[in-house]
Amino acid sequence: MDLGGGGGGGESESEANRTKLSSDDTAGKDYLSALPDDALVVILLNLSTRDARLTVRDAHGLDNLAIHSNSLQKMELNVHGLRQLTIVAPALEDLNVKFCFYYSRSQPVASITAPQLGTLMWSDLYDPSSVHLGKMEHLRLLKPFVFIVYGNDSVTLNPSCLSLLWRFKVIEHLTLTLFYQQNINNNQYMMEDMTMLLDITILHLNVIASGHCFGASSFHVLKLCSGIRRLMLMLAEAEEQTTCPPGCICIQQQNWETEHLLLNRLKEVEIDQFRGSEHEFTFVKQLFVWATTLEKMTVTFDDSITESVAMELGQVLQSFSRQETRMEIARVRI
Ligand SMILES: [Zn+2]
Repeated sequence: MDLGGGGGGGESESEANRTKLSSDDTAGKDYLSALPDDALVVILLNLSTRDARLTVRDAHGLDNLAIHSNSLQKMELNVHGLRQLTIVAPALEDLNVKFCFYYSRSQPVASITAPQLGTLMWSDLYDPSSVHLGKMEHLRLLKPFVFIVYGNDSVTLNPSCLSLLWRFKVIEHLTLTLFYQQNINNNQYMMEDMTMLLDITILHLNVIASGHCFGASSFHVLKLCSGIRRLMLMLAEAEEQTTCPPGCICIQQQNWETEHLLLNRLKEVEIDQFRGSEHEFTFVKQLFVWATTLEKMTVTFDDSITESVAMELGQVLQSFSRQETRMEIARVRI
């Protein structure tokens, strides 16, 4: 296995510095010296294992990365400041691109040829006019970039999320992240931009609410995919736990509590990192109203919740539950 630099005559300087990772042996050629040390070390470490997996984390200094491999099955790329990415990997099943283009805020340019891809996680800028994903007929799991629920500066983020969502029509499993910034009072409610979702069976909804009422945004998403059979709701927090300030605009979006929604295919709900806030209880209570044929709900508490508090919260949750729904409260017996 070899690291090969490409670029033929007449190409631009950046083109000439293109970095290629190839599984074909082209021994004797020195293509390595143009690479910055940090990226070089990371890539060499990974390629030297000759396994089917390539992980590049927290690398800097690469403008242009081209990976050609017949053996790679799993790839995770986190190369800050990247401007162009090319992947040709016929056996690739799992691709995770994280914050490669985001920090430079440059137009993301990518060409991905991975016809066997089953999982695509693209936590990065995405523009359908310059990111070409090729045919992905086996794709089962899609995770687009985070969606900012209230924002003004989300111009480059939310379109990245929405464009990738709208790139596909049917996928089994969608992982969607809704993010609330701490101070949202000068921002606009952006959920109306999400006018449709692809056809999915499983929704993994990560909500980073920063203490705000997240019911309206989550309701909006569920309304767009009411045929789901399984919902995984992750109530993640930002690094520091925050509370919603008095007079916050998040409470203006309350219509969802009285709007009709029927989730009559939903059989299983898993809620993770439950803390027992009023917003969380309100949402779970509504879930039982909407999900008329729910068979199982599993709730796992956040690590910050003591066992005695978890027991009390669990009893309240049980009181919302339909008789035919099996409730499982993780980490506590009630
Ligand atoms: Zn709020």
